Amino acid sequence: MSLDIAALKPAQPATLAFLARADHPMLLGSDWVPARSGAWMDAINPATGEVLGRFPAGDASDADRAVAAAREAFEGAAWRDMTPSQRGRILWRVSELIEQHIDELAELETLDQGKPLWVGRYAEIPGAAEQFRFFAGQASRVEGQTIPTSINYQPPGKQVFAYTLKQPVGVVAAIVPWNSPLVLTAMKLAPALAAGCCVVLKPAEDTSLTALRLGELLLEAGLPPGVVNIVTGRGDVVGAALAAHPGVDKISFTGSTPVGRAVLAAAGGNLKKVTLELGGKSPVIVMPDADLDAAIAGAANAIFFNTGQVCVAGSRLYVHRDVFDQVVQGVADVARSLKLGHGLDAATQIGPVVSRKQAERVHRYVQDAIAAGAKAIVGGGRLGPHGTFIEPTVLVDVKPDMACVKEEIFGPVLVATPVDSLEEALALSNDSEYGLAASVWTRDLSTAHRVAARLKSGTVWINCHLMFDASLPIGGVRQSGWGRESGQAAVDNFLELKTVCAVI
Ligand code: NAD
Repeated sequence: MSLDIAALKPAQPATLAFLARADHPMLLGSDWVPARSGAWMDAINPATGEVLGRFPAGDASDADRAVAAAREAFEGAAWRDMTPSQRGRILWRVSELIEQHIDELAELETLDQGKPLWVGRYAEIPGAAEQFRFFAGQASRVEGQTIPTSINYQPPGKQVFAYTLKQPVGVVAAIVPWNSPLVLTAMKLAPALAAGCCVVLKPAEDTSLTALRLGELLLEAGLPPGVVNIVTGRGDVVGAALAAHPGVDKISFTGSTPVGRAVLAAAGGNLKKVTLELGGKSPVIVMPDADLDAAIAGAANAIFFNTGQVCVAGSRLYVHRDVFDQVVQGVADVARSLKLGHGLDAATQIGPVVSRKQAERVHRYVQDAIAAGAKAIVGGGRLGPHGTFIEPTVLVDVKPDMACVKEEIFGPVLVATPVDSLEEALALSNDSEYGLAASVWTRDLSTAHRVAARLKSGTVWINCHLMFDASLPIGGVRQSGWGRESGQAAVDNFLELKTVCAVI
């Protein structure tokens, strides 16, 4: 097994200039600083193992400094007294700056995360800009209500007047995973800032570079110092310190379900508000009346896009037995045709997974599945000079209780199961601890909408998968999380409702 990876260099002078700095300090208030301990961590290109630069290995004392900077900004006039329109203008300016720097940000994301350049350039970085643009408008739409009451309080000439205010929750800790770093960061920052909160951002230790570059763009856009602080370092050190921190009012976490549980437990100390965007094991149901060419292409994209490192990846395929062989062979043919390579190579369709550790984890799932009786009709191998490439893999002959069917693998690995009826497809789809997303492929609209109602899932796609928009809420039921991101209601995640009741 071998895969030659050319040591490609970025084309953008701005990317080269960023990388030439080598040390990338973190943002506290208006200062770019090292960790208090002086420790650094390496940013590594997962395709080659090459070191791209260093960022601070922060600890609890750095989390303290970041929370203090956010608190000072939150209590200060510069942010509090800014009108919603002024905040919206800054958010809009951030979206413009992201677009101006789109090629640089896409290259940085590819080098740091491994993803094919086109994934960042045409999906995720524009998606990040779109989050700031959408929530720029929402900043002016934070509204309370006037409420007629039935309070029996009638001194002569007096009446009760009651209304609600929506006010920013305060200091937010935003903790982000490594699979789609910049857009997932934007999904937290944009609504939090629209609400008027101040933020401590903790990027994932495998992918901190685009967050640090975004920090520079936020200041360039006119965000007052301290409104966003970025503290880098290990999750079980900095992330855990933020989750437990008494000065943090709200945690917005995206990551794995086990870490989400740990964050929730730590947040109990001061009962901070918590939203959790967690793991998934999303089903794809294909009925025999579907447009099978579209279903095959859609099912393949649902699991292989971004090398399967997507929380809503369609990782369980349930196909009606009448068309099972045709669909599964079709997906396997797509898998065989995909070109693995360095993300900066324009021909690459599948990049490395984010790290050697993650590649070992994904590969172990495949090997364990095969040892337990599953069959890989395509893929199954681990390649590349750094051991980080996983061949797109389709497993059949799987059983519902196998780990590869029950657990989130977070790589380009699909498990396919034949079903004899729609009821069976629904029962198997809902037989999961997760409930993030699902898709159904059929030409029968009444089937589609009935299935959509019965799937236990935060999102259901009909004849499509992986359709995102800043206006569409996304999030999970069951152990896929609490709350929703994107969409108008996402601002409410960062607001407190205050009741004002007066005798006038
Ligand atoms: P992870 O849970 O290991 O880490 C996520 C973040 O939490 C990182 O920044 C990490 O440093 C930090 N962290 C780790 N330990 C911590 C602790 N004890 N306390 C506080 N923070 C801690 O997840 P990952 O491996 O980086 O990302 C992959 C996971 O993210 C997958 O499960 C995927 O499904 C999930 N995800 C979910 C969504 C969604 O919207 N539901 C989106 C993307 C990814």
